[in-house]
Amino acid sequence: YQPKYNLETGEVFGAEALVRWELPERGLVFPSDFIPIAEETSLIIEIGEWVLDKVCEDFRFWQRSVSSPGRVSVNLSLRQLRQAQFIKRVKSIMRGHEVSPTSLELEITETTLMENPQRTIKLLDELYGLGLHLAIDDFGTGYSSLSALQQFPISTLKIDKSFVRNVVTNPEDATLVDTIIQMGRNLNMDVVAEGVEDEAQLNFLQSLGCTYAQGLLFGDPMSSDNFLELLSAQADGTDSYRALFA
Ligand code: C2E
Ligand code: MG
Ligand code: MG
Repeated sequence: YQPKYNLETGEVFGAEALVRWELPERGLVFPSDFIPIAEETSLIIEIGEWVLDKVCEDFRFWQRSVSSPGRVSVNLSLRQLRQAQFIKRVKSIMRGHEVSPTSLELEITETTLMENPQRTIKLLDELYGLGLHLAIDDFGTGYSSLSALQQFPISTLKIDKSFVRNVVTNPEDATLVDTIIQMGRNLNMDVVAEGVEDEAQLNFLQSLGCTYAQGLLFGDPMSSDNFLELLSAQADGTDSYRALFA
């Protein structure tokens, strides 16, 4: 889990689930090494369901200790979205764990969304109707149709980390990031900056009015237990990252 921070209050407002595969002989395998291969077969459907199931299980576990773990996001692949039973499966997993859809957010990359916008709108409307939040991931790397953007029931825009990387030093990246933040705001979306690695980037994003951020500045993605510790520390007022926002 990678925590997401509210840049105005310094509070953790949830996390993004990032899948890892631990192999006894090889150690940790990252999603970039197995998701693209899984996407070529129906394995991605099983992996996707496993991830959602695990997230719901962890969420219930956190809820026993902290009243509001925030909103947890799960990444989706195009093939999952296209699966005929997708909505039924998502509903059944959430119901099985008694997790409210409003606690979850599904992240779909801009490229996936724009693959066939007309077909996707209907599906997104159904997911939104269940109460799920929807986010556009890696925004800025694809080719968005502005009219599709306006029609999608999307509540969150995630600025791709490639723009955040040089936001302080490269005026063109700064202009792009500023434009995305303004556009998100005008479309009534939450804007999350991905890949924040240092304080200079954090301060710059704050000055542009970006509301949320995640990245290595706040540490590596963590286990479910460690995320619960972070939430508990926050509830006690001892979250060590709070100082960054002072
Ligand atoms: P993403 O959803 O855009 O996730 C952000 C990636 O950036 C993650 O890589 C994260 O670990 C990494 N990251 C976070 N903060 C920083 C930072 O400050 N600097 C840099 N350089 N990188 C940072 P990760 O975990 O290797 O995941 C890569 C991609 O794999 C994800 O990109 C997502 O598209 C996909 N993915 C991850 N988990 C799942 C999953 O459960 N299902 C599916 N379908 N895809 C997944
Ligand atoms: Mg993501
Ligand atoms: Mg991303």
